[in-house]
Amino acid sequence: MPLKGISTYLSCPVCDADVPISEDEKVGDEVYCPYCQVPLKLRKTKDKEDMYLEENF
Ligand SMILES: [Zn+2]
Repeated sequence: MPLKGISTYLSCPVCDADVPISEDEKVGDEVYCPYCQVPLKLRKTKDKEDMYLEENF
């Protein structure tokens, strides 16, 4: 299956695995790490507009 719709990969803050982020995903959305199954929230840095993942327990 082609990885269509995946815009980027961000690293999981818990296990450091690459988490695929689809292009439909927005800041504030919840995604799950495919490796450790931890709920993560998509965040954006204030200064650089870079997206990152934060634990969302
Ligand atoms: Zn993880």
